[in-house]
Amino acid sequence: MIDAPTIAAVMTDLGEPPYRARQVYEALTRGLAVDFDGMTMLPAALRRALAERLRPLSLEAVETRAAPRGAARKTLFTTADGHPVEAVLMVYAKRATVCVSTQVGCAVGCAFCASGRLGLRRDLTAEEMVEQVFHFARLLRGDERRVTNVVFMGMGEPFHNYDETLRACRLLNDECGFNLAARSISVSTVGVVPGIDRFAEEPLQLNLAVSLHAATDELRDRLVPLNRAYPLDDVFAACARYVRRAHRKVLFEYVVLRGVNDTDEQAQMLAARVRPPHYHLNLIAYNDTGGEFARPRADQLAALRARLEAAGVSCTVRRSPGAEIEAACGQLALRRDEADPQP
Ligand code: SF4
Repeated sequence: MIDAPTIAAVMTDLGEPPYRARQVYEALTRGLAVDFDGMTMLPAALRRALAERLRPLSLEAVETRAAPRGAARKTLFTTADGHPVEAVLMVYAKRATVCVSTQVGCAVGCAFCASGRLGLRRDLTAEEMVEQVFHFARLLRGDERRVTNVVFMGMGEPFHNYDETLRACRLLNDECGFNLAARSISVSTVGVVPGIDRFAEEPLQLNLAVSLHAATDELRDRLVPLNRAYPLDDVFAACARYVRRAHRKVLFEYVVLRGVNDTDEQAQMLAARVRPPHYHLNLIAYNDTGGEFARPRADQLAALRARLEAAGVSCTVRRSPGAEIEAACGQLALRRDEADPQP
């Protein structure tokens, strides 16, 4: 992926008129071109000159694994400097959602998360994030489908890489380019309060998701170490400010760990905090990453949901079509840590 100002600067250097820059930008973002060879609207000499100066692909796709019936696909990419990055496509009847990574590894270190075990290697650029989406958009084109939603919920904490994440959102939303509606883009944070406050001021109508995973500070300190910096009262105060400022709802994510955060006490505290109409809760069954935690049985998950709904919580259970290929929440980078050449 190459942004419009970069293309324009190169075209100016080459003495080309502005319409040529627009042609190339459209070919890359709407036509999803992977090189300049196919841009036959350009003179051959210009295609060669562009190929010498610009790289259309910001990541190299190394391997794609598909879940049975094609419900999910996970691709391992490498960056130009050799880091592994993973992204996932989840295909539903009417939607096709790409889950994008924003960092290589993650500094937060949630107790149940494979990505957190890597530690932070580096931030991804907006171009590297958008490339993950474009990759799946190209795969879907073969099925005559398109990417309908993007969630920044892969490896990394998006608000620890705020500027590039928001630049990626704007690139995806650009009506002269990929043109994905802002309301189809969600950014998920584990509760970085300054990031939530900043996000509330964004002019784009993006969605905010907050990963809770525990309803008391005592438990959350253990599961999500960042809770010591931003405890639950502060996170919920920031969410309330966000609702007032942005006039938008907040989606809370809750990875259910059997016998740990699905107890009566946690459910009660959760119900007291996640109140409709502005807050909605999404329960996600934990996927085994070889750690100390266990996945809840379907009946346990249903019972938790029923308890929360009886207490007035607006609540859904997220389907995880990627579990078979280790593409579900908390599983990205599970087997890739050895693959990274730069510890
Ligand atoms: S769950 Fe998210 S914030 Fe926590 S370690 Fe994993 S990637 Fe980082």
